[in-house]
Amino acid sequence: MAVRIDGKALAAKVKRRAAEEAGKLSRKPGLAVVLVGEDPASQVYVAGKERDCAECGIESFGYRLPAETTEAELLDLVRRLNEDPRVDGILVQLPLPGHLNEETVINAIAPDKDVDCFHPFNVGRMVIGDPVFLPCTPAGVMEMLDAYQISIRGKRCVVLGRSNIVGKPMAALLTQRDGTVTICHSRTEDMARCTREADILVSAVGRAGLLTGDMVKEGAVVIDVAMNRDGNGKLCGDADFASVEPRASYITPVPGGVGPMTRACLMRNILTAARLHQA
Ligand code: NAP
Repeated sequence: MAVRIDGKALAAKVKRRAAEEAGKLSRKPGLAVVLVGEDPASQVYVAGKERDCAECGIESFGYRLPAETTEAELLDLVRRLNEDPRVDGILVQLPLPGHLNEETVINAIAPDKDVDCFHPFNVGRMVIGDPVFLPCTPAGVMEMLDAYQISIRGKRCVVLGRSNIVGKPMAALLTQRDGTVTICHSRTEDMARCTREADILVSAVGRAGLLTGDMVKEGAVVIDVAMNRDGNGKLCGDADFASVEPRASYITPVPGGVGPMTRACLMRNILTAARLHQA
């Protein structure tokens, strides 16, 4: 039976460290959280991030905007936050309503306040191996592998999904740590042939039951990034846990795996930004 990687416990540690660091700064670090519209999932995520801030001694400034906010209005707010000395990090919760261009909005965030690490400047820095911030979800995964002393060097790593937020940066970080990485996506032919070769398998697709036990090599490390709802409305990942767990050596549960680590790594990025601004 696989060892279950305890994302909750690890995240608590990362947050404790962030709180200690925050206490040493001359000014309380600040995060601006911008939510446009009333997407229920986004509201839950944003509330969670604000709770994490409170726990870590980080001030959060919430901006709830109506769904009909224009791009000009949103960009104006982002520019004001860029200039606000109380604000170290700016988080614009995605997805944005359809009439707003996410790329335009992300690109308007000052790179030194881009604590999600979505701005092309920070993505570029990360890819060349000289990061200011690390993207929260892939950074959380790396931290989990390290905490459980799972070696990456020379290992066959397979990442399912190629989004800018998870799949691509995940592959970049694994490559930097000397993994041999394959990325699979919706156009991949015979994905199971790739997954069966993986020593470390990271799934970030968003389809419950996509990854089944027969697609997993005996002893593989399975990191399930996805957050889906099963037929009963219960939170689950991409892996069919019942068939994958017996084959894996380590596995992340959903919930309680990557999710909490993502949030903890955001706190760490806010601390990094605050240190930059207070230097
Ligand atoms: P996304 O932007 O929708 O990307 C999904 C990726 O999966 C795409 O690259 C897509 O391929 C690929 N894909 C779709 N169907 C596939 C299939 N049948 N076989 C193989 N690949 C397939 O999603 P995302 O933002 O990366 O998020 C992925 C999942 O992670 C979601 O469940 C999301 O909720 C979760 N997530 C969790 C956290 C966390 O903290 N735990 C953070 C972020 C995201 P194409 O590129 O070809 O379309």
